[in-house]
Amino acid sequence: MKASEKNICQSCGMPMKNMTDFGTDSDGSINTEYCHYCYEEGEFTDKGISLEEKMAKNMNIAIKMGMSEVDAAKLASRTLPALRRWRKSNKAKQAEK
Ligand SMILES: [Zn+2]
Repeated sequence: MKASEKNICQSCGMPMKNMTDFGTDSDGSINTEYCHYCYEEGEFTDKGISLEEKMAKNMNIAIKMGMSEVDAAKLASRTLPALRRWRKSNKAKQAEK
């Protein structure tokens, strides 16, 4: 794996630069798709959370880091729905229409 490659968590959008940023699979190996906050030992740490809940969670983190509420909301709504973890539920919603 190239360290220069831009990896972002496919659950929360966090940039992952170090090996310790990555999540782990059930066998203890590194999972390069998700960060360690979201994914540990083969399972999401916040399993069952909805996209909306995850966006709210992300917003709170961004606000704590000094981002304005408006910017945090924009960032979350732009980033999260495009990530792999959430794309399936988007499709399901579109199919209902
Ligand atoms: Zn994550």
